[in-house]
Amino acid sequence: MAYKSVKGTKDLLPADTASWLHVEGIIREVMDVYRYGEIRTPIFEETTIFARGIGEETDIVGKEMYTFTDKGGSSLTLRPEMTAPVIRSFIQHSLGEQTALNKLYYIGPMFRQERPQAGRYRQFHQFGFESIGQDNPTCDAEIIMMAHDIYRRLGISSTLKINSVGDPSCRPQYREALQDFLKGVYDDLSPESQRRTETNPMRVLDSKNPQDQELTRNAPVILDYLSSECNEHFKETLALLDSLGVPYEIDPRLVRGLDYYTKTAFEFVSADLGSQDALGGGGRYDGLVQQLDGKPTPAVGFAAGIERLLIVLEKKAYEFPVSAPSVYLVGMDDGSRRWAFEQAISFRSSGIAAELDYAGRSVKAQMREANKLGARYVILVGESEMASSTAQVKDMKEGEQEEVAFDELIAYFTSRNNEDVS
Ligand code: AMP
Repeated sequence: MAYKSVKGTKDLLPADTASWLHVEGIIREVMDVYRYGEIRTPIFEETTIFARGIGEETDIVGKEMYTFTDKGGSSLTLRPEMTAPVIRSFIQHSLGEQTALNKLYYIGPMFRQERPQAGRYRQFHQFGFESIGQDNPTCDAEIIMMAHDIYRRLGISSTLKINSVGDPSCRPQYREALQDFLKGVYDDLSPESQRRTETNPMRVLDSKNPQDQELTRNAPVILDYLSSECNEHFKETLALLDSLGVPYEIDPRLVRGLDYYTKTAFEFVSADLGSQDALGGGGRYDGLVQQLDGKPTPAVGFAAGIERLLIVLEKKAYEFPVSAPSVYLVGMDDGSRRWAFEQAISFRSSGIAAELDYAGRSVKAQMREANKLGARYVILVGESEMASSTAQVKDMKEGEQEEVAFDELIAYFTSRNNEDVS
């Protein structure tokens, strides 16, 4: 039997990881200039962190978690998202007492037992950032701006949809009005939306079922129910986005249907993705720290899928930087091949990317390989070069060839390092 990776998971081979590292590098650069620090938490947590942190009513907790019991009888879960673990860690290490605002980011694998399809996996990767400690619309705008900057730097055009979901002072009134409306069309709603009408009516607006969507087209919208504080927060967030030149669409149906979500909710979508068109989403969650037994602390964050981002980049033929050796060493006989190996090690110790043949291939085959790998220079050494301690160095781009003494090779390439050898 041929073993395969588990359904919904993928191997990332060196050709793939090169693209991943590039994308991750851009994310880290953006995080660095915004002064966000990376947080790494364990891959698994106690199940209750997610049950309480995400909510029992969600698909994630209800159906998608990889949960297991360890030898000590504890129920553990592979993390399906990172906000709850980040907040658990924030509380555990009293980060809130150390500074007025904690700015954290993460990149890593998440696990959800979903039905695999294009853009949807069981192990996938997210990057995200959380701004924990302040209820200031600048924090909302900053989080949105960071996502916007990352997509802009990658040349991805996306649409920002934004809404406010109110807070516990105004949402109950909206919830009631929405529930009343939904009861009027209850019999025609999908079974899932019927259930949610009782448990979490705002999520009905999220339904992908076309009939549900049609039936709820004239449902009351939360923006008409916002308290003056929530309304002001929303207006100020939008004003900041306006002055930063970030385009957005107000989408009054965009909901984050959990009680601890407050005020700003947003999503970046891409027309280059199919039915799974969400690049990433986020919002304010002023109630979560308290929900996980910490002191009430306002916070806002964003999370996005890396696979989805790469799907978009591949679709638009994004030019990823290509990794190639600076130097390929070609030996012609036993003596020069041995020299080539030792010289490659010296190059590498000096930070020069060097490659050579390990399979005893002919000079012609080695040249072909050097070409295929995109080596900028080829060093040719045979019997006579060994005798004179001088190598033939061929510039593969310019087509020129010159002789360089063995003991000058490192200096020769180091001096070119900042120009065209990398
Ligand atoms: P969520 O935590 O559900 O709001 O998801 C945030 C982002 O993570 C989504 O917008 C997707 O880009 C990505 N994502 C969520 N679930 C998956 C999945 N099963 N496979 C791939 N990407 C996912």
